[in-house]
Amino acid sequence: MKRDELLKEMGLGPLWKLRPPFVKPSGPPREAPSLLSAAADERTRAIAAMGWAELRQAVAECTACALHKTRKQAVLGVGDIHAEWLFIGEGPGAEEDERGEPFVGQAGKLLDAMLAAIGLKRGENVYIANAVKCRPPNNRTPEASETAACWPFLARQIELIRPKLIVALGKPAAQTLLQQEVTIAKARGLVHDFAGIALIVTYHPAYLLRNLPEKAKAWEDLCFMRKTMAGLG
Ligand code: SF4
Repeated sequence: MKRDELLKEMGLGPLWKLRPPFVKPSGPPREAPSLLSAAADERTRAIAAMGWAELRQAVAECTACALHKTRKQAVLGVGDIHAEWLFIGEGPGAEEDERGEPFVGQAGKLLDAMLAAIGLKRGENVYIANAVKCRPPNNRTPEASETAACWPFLARQIELIRPKLIVALGKPAAQTLLQQEVTIAKARGLVHDFAGIALIVTYHPAYLLRNLPEKAKAWEDLCFMRKTMAGLG
């Protein structure tokens, strides 16, 4: 797909300037982050020792929060397990719950277009996951207790992938990773430091589909991500 077509797919016309400031994260990239707190419980410690196969099975069988009651299947994630880019959304929707893959349907199509706009492709140097692995009923926002219960799985994915850059798509993902209340407006345009890994916050594709004017800001963020990754070497 040509650049103009990609921009059209994203609902964008003109190009936009990069948004300052550009701040390199502290800490060395590509080292395994230590995400296990000293007070971690037995379940968390067990998850922190899992490989991909065990992780997939544990997620499929997990009943640690109420979301397991209404899911069709848990959705671990998809993509290159050695990726430099890790995109993290909120949770599976109806189609994801049905198909077992994150970001399918309209939001997924838009995410694919966003990836293509910066020269990326799903599955190639890109891994896509969610903060919670089971679909919240009626696509509601996951509750804090649910993201907390699911955190050990996401933390283990991050440890196993060791990405260079994490992109938090939307507020729930950003809050899960930054462990604080955030607004996208304030958190975007900065490189946050997540255990030595660069972290950038932008809008969730589903939000962009409902708020077309924000697509221009998403394009700014994409340019910022690309620039940041280039700066990480
Ligand atoms: S959302 Fe996460 S913690 Fe909750 S049941 Fe699903 S896999 Fe387990």
